[in-house]
Amino acid sequence: MSYKLFIPGPIDISDKTYEAMKTPVVGHRSQDFVDLYNAVQPALQELMFTKDPVFLSTSSAWGVMEGAIRNLTQKKVLNCMNGAFSDKWYDVATRCGKEATALQFEWGTPIDPEAVRKELSSGEYDTITMVHNETSTGTMSDLPAIMKVLQEFPDVISVVDSVSSFTVVPIKKDELGIDVLLSGSQKALALPPGMAVFSPSKRAFARAEKLKDRGYYFDFLEFLKNHEKGMTPSTPVIPLINALKSKLEDIQAEGIQARYERHAKLNHLVHTWVENNGFELLPEKQYASKSLTCVKNNRNLEIAGLNKALKERFHCVIDGGYGKLKGKTFRISNMGDETEETISELLQNLDTLLPEFL
Ligand SMILES: *Cc1c(COP(=O)(O)O)cnc(C)c1O
Repeated sequence: MSYKLFIPGPIDISDKTYEAMKTPVVGHRSQDFVDLYNAVQPALQELMFTKDPVFLSTSSAWGVMEGAIRNLTQKKVLNCMNGAFSDKWYDVATRCGKEATALQFEWGTPIDPEAVRKELSSGEYDTITMVHNETSTGTMSDLPAIMKVLQEFPDVISVVDSVSSFTVVPIKKDELGIDVLLSGSQKALALPPGMAVFSPSKRAFARAEKLKDRGYYFDFLEFLKNHEKGMTPSTPVIPLINALKSKLEDIQAEGIQARYERHAKLNHLVHTWVENNGFELLPEKQYASKSLTCVKNNRNLEIAGLNKALKERFHCVIDGGYGKLKGKTFRISNMGDETEETISELLQNLDTLLPEFL
């Protein structure tokens, strides 16, 4: 049975994208591949607002997230934690044998730039990790405010996960001074899972040069060396690169500004539904994500039952809460290719089912 995903990743994939994946595979050391690689580069740089190279990693985002730690942390890493994805980064850092501090904020609250300043003032750190848009709680932190604080700490390399916010809102990598901006394929980009994109700064490369145990698969310098030839270090997931090329063409055709506006509008539609139905957002409205909505289950809705009915009767699903928020919240994605029509239809379906599950 096929059904439409309104969960915040993986999300619904267009027929056009699936069609692009059928493009015959070429040798990854051929000129045809170099042409493909070079074709996606300018648009990726434009969308990341950067002059630095943007690499394609055949892995999910966590590969690059772990790789960033191995490439960049020499002294100690500060892991900003305010939800399931950012929390995990601390565990990843310690498992990589790095010294790390968990800077914790309550789930559903953003990263506090003042707390970051206070912690970094100790001078112990050379790396900081954060998730721009905590998908588990639907919370978007104030990236410009945090990056402003980081300007006071020029030795600290910043790693920013934009898996569920890339192309939803502008993230001006160079202007903000982000050292490594990364994203995955299956969230905001609406591609199948299996690929990550990431862009390290010159500072990040300089740091990597000083570290010996960068490993091989995620070695930033290996990526750079291959990038200069229009290639990746190992055989990449070519069908996904073809899908990415197609998606970048879609984004170009829509216009990036129109894309940001569409996401804001759809997000607002969901927020209005939440308010009209007596539900509340998990985060404060000011920090609510623009790519998904995390709703407090303050009306004691039977979410599992509702989702089952949604799937059986309307062939779509929402998310019943992530990790420790399962059952306590539910989440609705408005990322990727969603339109006023698809979101309105989902909300109508929810309206139909709501009385049965309250
Ligand atoms: C989904 C998600 C990830 C994890 O990505 P994988 O593709 O599972 O590696 C990381 N960060 C955020 C913010 C996410 O939403």
